[in-house]
Amino acid sequence: MGFLGKTGLEVSNLCFGTLTMTPFQANLPISEGARLLDYAYQRGVNFFDTAEIYENYAYIREALKRMDRTKVVLSTKCYAYDEKTSEKSLKLALDGLKTDYIDLFMLHEQESPYTLKGHHEALETFLKFQEKGYIRAIGVSTHFIACAKAIRKYPEIQVIHPIFNQKGIGIQDGSIEEMSETLKNLHSEGIGIFSMKALGGGHLQRDAYQSLKWVMNQDYIDATAVGMQSIEEIDYNVDLFLHQKENQEAYEKIHKKKRKLIVADYCIGCGNCVRRCKQEAIEVVDGRARPNDRCILCGYCATVCPEFCIKVI
Ligand code: SF4
Ligand code: SF4
Repeated sequence: MGFLGKTGLEVSNLCFGTLTMTPFQANLPISEGARLLDYAYQRGVNFFDTAEIYENYAYIREALKRMDRTKVVLSTKCYAYDEKTSEKSLKLALDGLKTDYIDLFMLHEQESPYTLKGHHEALETFLKFQEKGYIRAIGVSTHFIACAKAIRKYPEIQVIHPIFNQKGIGIQDGSIEEMSETLKNLHSEGIGIFSMKALGGGHLQRDAYQSLKWVMNQDYIDATAVGMQSIEEIDYNVDLFLHQKENQEAYEKIHKKKRKLIVADYCIGCGNCVRRCKQEAIEVVDGRARPNDRCILCGYCATVCPEFCIKVI
């Protein structure tokens, strides 16, 4: 356990990324998803990350019934840009998770100084929520170094949730070296660093041990979100992050399965997924969506498909 920057939030260095259990990915029944969250909690994970767009608050709400809320750190993120949309997102989170407060409330997918500027009213509203005790800390998630650099201008922001892996997969505007340097500086200034995509959305899966260890060895990373959807994945990651040992047996079971994005053949070629993807990782060819090798398996394109034909499995 350690602190997330200067927020006072004490978290396990492994954060349970919950997108994996949603209808856009494994589509687990609520009881099964909640059982996995509870299993991770029993094994020492106290940090759980979700987002309004994941539409999965019910899993966490169910799991929270079996947890000590005071020991759990919940993170969620939204696309609010002003007071009204902030209030709506906070209410959705509080009601959806059935909790009186959110530990870490973030702006989702920020890109640059300009997007942060455009969301400033939301940040100011988050600060009011914090003063009233509805949220404990404020953050932003990003795939951009320019955004990481720009957060200094916003004293409300206490935590950054950047894409971060040893090959720099998914970083939109520069190298892993530049992102590392930026995060190191932010951390030295007291910003909490809570990274994501240590396995580059599955591209580094074959070299999972080395890739996860690399992120763990960066001492300016306070915690890392890893998406999990099975007991074996939880065992593997808990053993590695919390006990510094590799669970070979769990590894064998996990790595028989290669994750991929599939598009059902009833795709109508509308292009919504293409417009939604920030990685330019999907295109419409001959009337049907087709992912390419830039795909980081985030599953966000699935949320805008009118035919529900995209899945990450
Ligand atoms: S959003 Fe769905 S239906 Fe539209 S092109 Fe993409 S996969 Fe096909
Ligand atoms: S194609 Fe979909 S899953 Fe792949 S990176 Fe783009 S939005 Fe994410």
